[in-house]
Amino acid sequence: MTNVPTITLNDGAKIPQLGFGVYQIDPDETADAVKTALDLGYRHIDTAEMYGNERGVGEGIRNAGLTRSEVFITSKLNNGFHRPDDARRAFDGTLKALGFEGDDNYVDLFLIHWPLPTLYDGDYVSTWQTLEEFKKDGRARSIGVSNFQVEHLERLARETETVPAVNQIEVHPYFTNEAVRAYGNDHGIATEAWSPIAQGKVLDDSVVTRIAEATGKSPAQVVLRWHIQRGDIVFPKSVTPKRIEENFALFDFELSGDDVDALSGLDKGEEGRTGPNPDEFDYIPE
Ligand code: NAD
Repeated sequence: MTNVPTITLNDGAKIPQLGFGVYQIDPDETADAVKTALDLGYRHIDTAEMYGNERGVGEGIRNAGLTRSEVFITSKLNNGFHRPDDARRAFDGTLKALGFEGDDNYVDLFLIHWPLPTLYDGDYVSTWQTLEEFKKDGRARSIGVSNFQVEHLERLARETETVPAVNQIEVHPYFTNEAVRAYGNDHGIATEAWSPIAQGKVLDDSVVTRIAEATGKSPAQVVLRWHIQRGDIVFPKSVTPKRIEENFALFDFELSGDDVDALSGLDKGEEGRTGPNPDEFDYIPE
């Protein structure tokens, strides 16, 4: 049904390179938005405990008439639950909220949402070892991290057994995050690019609009295609059906090498971040 390429992760699992992100989608609107995306052909949904909408993700999949194994689901550990016992309870909560029974009671990918190096005595290692349990018992088919810097990844490599399957980090033309991507590339960790269109902020850049005019595609399609050609995994978010459809139509055109380089050249380094710096971020939900 879809022509979305898959990426093979370091544990052999396959993930669709393009998915649908549900950050900031109202819990009451999530089932409908997810169903719209699935009806259009998306087969990969990115949610998190902190988004408060995992229940809607499960409902949307069932409402679309799809079976559990037809959709790749990612969720992420709430920042408030890094201690191992809390993480175990939180993970049980994720599976319960998704609402699948028996053999379908699993996530495809579970991530530590943020490293929080200034909290929990700097211990994200025992948190990672707890995710290793979820992988061993089969309730998380793959495990990974999000917002981990090179130093955090190096520490996991020294002190634990499992190399994360993915690192989900902020990446877009204004913040290309090359050092973290390069570490992933060198160590078999797939990069997932969050806020792939910088929440819309890159769309009126003159380089983006020039390439959009030349290719006859929209600015969002040009930027998303740039990610695809760089090999990263993306899951743009929208609740507008027309945009959800537009963001999925990325496989009938190609950017030239010069266009890819021109978009990469928009990088502003640290100034280009739209989100927080993971070295400092210490948000715990109420
Ligand atoms: P995004 O870059 O996908 O931008 C989303 C916004 O851009 C939408 O709210 C809409 O206003 C606009 N938009 C979407 N499609 C458009 C189009 N075709 N034309 C014009 N405007 C359009 O930002 P995001 O939601 O922050 O990131 C995507 C996903 O990444 C999230 O839903 C979530 O799953 C994930 N994410 C993860 C983290 C993390 O810490 N791991 C942080 C942020 C986001």
